[in-house]
Amino acid sequence: MKCILIPFILLTAVLAKGQTAQSLPETQSNTNDKFLMAVAWYQYSAEMEALYYQAFNIATLRLDEALAADTAGKPLAIIVDIDETMLNNSPFEAAILNNGETFQSGWSSWVAGSNAKALPGALEFAKYAQSRKADIFYITNRTDLERAATLKNLQNVGYPFADDNHLVTRGDQSFSNGNTSSKEGRRIKVAEKYEIALLIGDNLNDFSVIFEDRETNNGKDAVGQNRLLFGKKFIVLPNPMYGAWEKPLVNFREGLSEAEKTNIIKAKLVVN
Ligand SMILES: [Mg+2]
Repeated sequence: MKCILIPFILLTAVLAKGQTAQSLPETQSNTNDKFLMAVAWYQYSAEMEALYYQAFNIATLRLDEALAADTAGKPLAIIVDIDETMLNNSPFEAAILNNGETFQSGWSSWVAGSNAKALPGALEFAKYAQSRKADIFYITNRTDLERAATLKNLQNVGYPFADDNHLVTRGDQSFSNGNTSSKEGRRIKVAEKYEIALLIGDNLNDFSVIFEDRETNNGKDAVGQNRLLFGKKFIVLPNPMYGAWEKPLVNFREGLSEAEKTNIIKAKLVVN
């Protein structure tokens, strides 16, 4: 989750009826309150749990199909992302809201605690994959410095394949030529020895390099062109809290205040 942005969606939460963003004092609008409903939805909506179960149920079906079709003799692998795919970091996101944490100030200590919990359906799916002799590779953009604590967290939860051979961090030299957020090189490395049956993640960048361009129609064209792969080879999980989807919303600009982000995004909303 190294590429996390400070979230800024769900615009209406801080705007009283009839007010515009310009009319709000900076102290009121320059908060993470817009993030509140995203984190609340993630932590409290039954729909969130249903979506995770739905995703891992589909993953189970697709794994069974891949096992039945696998005649090449190459071992099967499933590639999963970690953050908001297998581990729930929403308590850290809540700390941003309640304790004034920022990503920079709080993420390292949250990771070091190794206390993130499993997401609904994830552990059961991982154990099922293990029982069917399909390997799971955890490909994450957590850094090598976060590797030991991440491994410990996966082990604390009880995930299978929580070992050095299956945890692939951002700069993992055995899997990648360079320290890059793109996961493509690491996926290719796994594919050298394994047939990749499925990829599971909350960010399109968890699936293929073809989704890394968000400048073209927010990445939606690439999604449309590959629509048949979703629910088949690519299993997508919901994350309204943060993600690569945020960048085009503010025209890839950085260093904006919350008020500036709010204004830019409000002006983009489709109203008819
Ligand atoms: Mg993720």
